[in-house]
Amino acid sequence: MTTLLARNADILVTMDAARREIQGGGFFARDGVIEVVGTNADLPESADEIIDLSGLIATPGLINTHHHFYQNLTRAVPAGQDATLFGWLQAHYPIWARMGPDAIRISALVALAELALTGCVCSSDHLYMFPNGARLDDEIEAAEMIGVRLHAARGSMSISESDGGLPPDSLVENEAAILKDSLRAIQTWHDPNPGAMIRVAVAPCSPFSVSQGLMRDAAMLARDQGVMLHTHLAENDDDVAYSHDRFGCSPGD
Ligand SMILES: [Zn+2]
Repeated sequence: MTTLLARNADILVTMDAARREIQGGGFFARDGVIEVVGTNADLPESADEIIDLSGLIATPGLINTHHHFYQNLTRAVPAGQDATLFGWLQAHYPIWARMGPDAIRISALVALAELALTGCVCSSDHLYMFPNGARLDDEIEAAEMIGVRLHAARGSMSISESDGGLPPDSLVENEAAILKDSLRAIQTWHDPNPGAMIRVAVAPCSPFSVSQGLMRDAAMLARDQGVMLHTHLAENDDDVAYSHDRFGCSPGD
């Protein structure tokens, strides 16, 4: 059991229900869990580790609820500038199709380092393409190196251009294989316990890249395994129009 005392912050921003901002305060934590927040007078006087926050502002860590780490590798591609969502995706798919395990690992290291440097302590990542042997494991291992909590969302695409979807044939997977690997990732990495560093979610990509059947089966898998379900929905007018034309429904239905 280890304890941590951080005190003397110029301002401690609690973000609690009353939005308290405490001058000359800090917090006391045991095994990574905060037990006391308050002024210096409210805090224990000793701990295994003591941090002096004089001259600093202390805030809760930021939580990033949606990201695509691999896109860090393709910022500002000219063909994708000033495009709508679908045009931007179609400009990038051929480039992303050439990624492999190293690209996934390196982009995750870069993204997680950027996040950590800007105050993020927990990020999700929606990874929905696995070309050339890439796996969800590649970004999970990167998160373990950086030390940021990760909710790794095992994304997927199964409806390609040939079947009326948006992505190229080379970037989609077989639906049975998607579900099998999603279950493998959950059984290998998901930690349901409080304070978990790694959790896994099931994340069919979008209405324009997976079937209704995969959306349903993914939801059933997530419910059965007790993990989160994640996707994109109604990203812009094109996405809404596609869903309406293909499935006869709109976000209000
Ligand atoms: Zn997204």
